[in-house]
Amino acid sequence: MKSSSETQKMRDKLLSWYDRTGRTLPWRIRPEDRDAGQIPDPYAIWLSEIMCQQTTIPHATPYWEKFLARFPTVTDLADAERDEVLAMWAGLGYYARARNLHKCAQLIRDAHNGQFPQSEAGLLQLPGIGPYTAATIAAICFDEPTNIVDGNVERVISRIFRVQSPLPKAKTELRRLAATLASPKRPGDYGQALMDLGGTVCTPTSPNCAHCPWQGHCAAYANGDQTDYPKKSPKTKRPIRYGAVFVLQYQYQILLQRRPDNGLLGGMMGLPGTEWTARREADPLRAAPQARNWEKCPGEVKHVFTHFDLRLDVYRAETSRKISGEWADIQNLAEYAIPTAYKKALRKAGL
Ligand code: SF4
Repeated sequence: MKSSSETQKMRDKLLSWYDRTGRTLPWRIRPEDRDAGQIPDPYAIWLSEIMCQQTTIPHATPYWEKFLARFPTVTDLADAERDEVLAMWAGLGYYARARNLHKCAQLIRDAHNGQFPQSEAGLLQLPGIGPYTAATIAAICFDEPTNIVDGNVERVISRIFRVQSPLPKAKTELRRLAATLASPKRPGDYGQALMDLGGTVCTPTSPNCAHCPWQGHCAAYANGDQTDYPKKSPKTKRPIRYGAVFVLQYQYQILLQRRPDNGLLGGMMGLPGTEWTARREADPLRAAPQARNWEKCPGEVKHVFTHFDLRLDVYRAETSRKISGEWADIQNLAEYAIPTAYKKALRKAGL
């Protein structure tokens, strides 16, 4: 742990570094914007935080802009059809977040008069808002001195203190150490500064220590072993699951199938197919919708989920008899909330 005078120096250095060089992001109210009278909109901040989880800022930014243009307020988002929200989310992945986003907006509309709760504790009660997001919104929008810790912050803190225990076990210790540095003054700017430091300077493989405001306080820098931190437990190999999907065409339409609400890609539109299992099915066509002329497309679709790799065999057939089910015009497939794994399968089938 650092002494209180060193801690104070570190806070001051980080904040003045942020004032000079912090990132400009479309949803960010920088110190000079705040001085000019702008105030952060919790709805815009919340959207950005949910969208940026598990993806990069450049990838998430057009989605954020599209959502704010279509749903300018949280009530507008709550009033939207869930399918429209899911369709606009398609391409960002992790669809449980989109379902929770919509649920959360409805709860804010119905139980909070369309206003976000103004405390970390209140925000934590909302669906899809975890400790990191609650701490971030509360600090940025309501000046609550919270302890904002994401993966970038964990990396910085692990290096500053040379934390020896590996992730994920080290998380509690890293949170505790981050809390000892967190600034009660300008908590939102401090949190954003620390995330910027991790995102742009204290990067995983090549930290730019020469430009780091905390260089003189960093134990890993002093020891010359920055990239040894954070320590990590040895990785377990990601399992592979196999499945087959069926692209059935009737004239200018394709048969879609909605995935069950619970579970992976819940509520999204997909293609009919087999279960995804640890072994390739011997006879996947048993699960095919009626049609006799199934042809297997060459190769397979590969897709990576958080906990497993997916290999999909894609079968294609045309039918002259329209069986019951959800048929979508091929031209209008973009309007459906079709996850990327299925989009890849459609591409493999030539659509
Ligand atoms: S000195 Fe280097 S390793 Fe230490 S916090 Fe700064 S960038 Fe990261």
